[in-house]
Amino acid sequence: MKFSNEIETLKPYKPGKPIAETQREFGLKEVVKLASNENPIGASKQVVSAIEKAALEIHRYPDASCYELKHAMAGYYGVSTEMMTFGNGSNELIDLLIRLYCDPRKDKVLTSKGAFIAYKICSQVSRVETLEIPLSENLRFDLLALAKKLEADSGSIRLVFIANPNNPTGTYVNESELIEFLDIAQKYENTLIVLDEAYNEFVRAKDYPQSLDLMKKYKNVASLRTLSKVYGIAGLRLGVLIAQPEVIGFIDRIRNPFNVNLLAQEAAKAAVADREYLKKSQQVNWEGLDYFYKEFSQMGLKYWESQGNFVLIDCERDSEEINLELLKLGLIVRPVKGYGLATHLRVSVGLPEENKFAVEAIKQVLKG
Ligand SMILES: *Cc1c(COP(=O)(O)O)cnc(C)c1O
Repeated sequence: MKFSNEIETLKPYKPGKPIAETQREFGLKEVVKLASNENPIGASKQVVSAIEKAALEIHRYPDASCYELKHAMAGYYGVSTEMMTFGNGSNELIDLLIRLYCDPRKDKVLTSKGAFIAYKICSQVSRVETLEIPLSENLRFDLLALAKKLEADSGSIRLVFIANPNNPTGTYVNESELIEFLDIAQKYENTLIVLDEAYNEFVRAKDYPQSLDLMKKYKNVASLRTLSKVYGIAGLRLGVLIAQPEVIGFIDRIRNPFNVNLLAQEAAKAAVADREYLKKSQQVNWEGLDYFYKEFSQMGLKYWESQGNFVLIDCERDSEEINLELLKLGLIVRPVKGYGLATHLRVSVGLPEENKFAVEAIKQVLKG
């Protein structure tokens, strides 16, 4: 068989190792998975009841326009319904944006090396080249370098992806840096600046930019959100794109009509209505992060302060080796070699007892 060069050289996305597989392979009973930035507290009870109720309707097609969900979410985010559409996870929206904006083998996507890998994979599948600017020394998006690249290559760059905060580093760009970048980028009105804000609700930094406010001034900006993280419904797949109505109209034109399933629509409505759950998610995450920081500092292990629900650590040894030793102890975390970080691991925040388990396992392996 023969396929295009882009497809034959594609390195597919590597998801976190499943718990059952790890139990089988290593003959383990107790396994803790902190590898996929999942919400450790489980979904909201109100979400589960909404799904149970909706289960009686699944012989019907879902609402292709997501009417009720759109109204609920527009209220939640404080934007008009014309500025919003949904995807089967934000991953699908990344894919759709690339297909909408980029002509294959002509237009380009600009992002950082060390940014969320989906931008590159989706681009390659669409036969679109990705230009990757290195992260700065402290593993942050280098927006000045991105702006320079955009100015130099504005004829072909149609999309810029900025993960804020970034996965897997947990670092973020602040408001003044972003505004400086957008002041330059707004000259290129045919280029869309996508702020991927999957971890938005976990951010504690005071100078984190409010993208939805910025979008009032900067018209070529879009924001991606997801219900996979703080809202704990990763398994149902619901992503949100907030952008100018014209962009939304074109995404709606090219997406599959029933890309968001019936259960996801009902679950998402219930999820954003449960404010208590949101608070609990945030609290468990922030306490977990602070616990990790304290323990890692005591161990003398290098880590990056995170605005997400995970921490990047540098073990200063080949991360695949360390990962294997951790798996033998029943801990699944994520090596991030594919991001150019060869000695680093990403550890998601779990429940307190899972975090403790992780710290003990990491201690044991790094001592050995
Ligand atoms: C987890 C994550 C997403 C969310 O993906 P979904 O497809 O919505 O589950 C998007 N962007 C980044 C940077 C992420 O880490």
